[in-house]
Amino acid sequence: MRLVFLGAPGVGKGTQADKAAVQYHIRKISTGDLLREAVRNRTPLGIEAKEHMDQGRLVPDSVVIGLVREKLADSSHANGFILDGFPRTVHQAEALAKVLAEQGLQLDRVIHFRVSRSEIVKRLSGRRSCPKCQATYHVEFAPSKSGDVCERCGAALVQRSDDQPEAIEMRLRVYEEQTAPLITFYENKQVLSHLNGAEPVETVYQNLVRELTAYQTA
Ligand code: AMP
Repeated sequence: MRLVFLGAPGVGKGTQADKAAVQYHIRKISTGDLLREAVRNRTPLGIEAKEHMDQGRLVPDSVVIGLVREKLADSSHANGFILDGFPRTVHQAEALAKVLAEQGLQLDRVIHFRVSRSEIVKRLSGRRSCPKCQATYHVEFAPSKSGDVCERCGAALVQRSDDQPEAIEMRLRVYEEQTAPLITFYENKQVLSHLNGAEPVETVYQNLVRELTAYQTA
């Protein structure tokens, strides 16, 4: 299966992609994770990406498309993949279609996760992560059992710089202006399914599996 998970920041795409990747034995490719790794490793790409990311803006298309092209060129996605957080612009979507066509492939399904703006702000502003093992928590919905430190490895938890209030506002604005047009783009290609992302994680996941099963047996 070759899937794209689409939706505003904070709708839970990454969480759902992690679960589905395990169940369906496919790779999750998250451009946000790849870029954060490049920032941590202070690579030239990471240094370029950091200032865009900290402000909640998109990293230039050329950079992100290059990253995804490289990932899709390696054979470990033979079973399929879930793209989480890519494409985020129509230009990226067109580039993706081209990269896949070069390999004789196409997307099977695009899943759009819907969550209200107020819920998104609550989710993002309470999010905390471990700088050492990358575990994620939420101060209200999924707190660490060890308080302000990671319950897995003991490192002090941090808030992502792009989860600060001004960056959240910017990310939501960028989503509306640059990413939301992809809903119509993929609707027109008849590959889009909508899911309510506001329900509990397990319920969203059951609905996702039902949707993918319906598609596979259609
Ligand atoms: P995410 O973890 O998916 O919310 O991504 C975090 C940040 O990485 C975004 O706010 C962007 O600055 C950058 N980013 C991730 N994916 C993309 C993409 N497909 N295009 C441009 N920028 C991206």
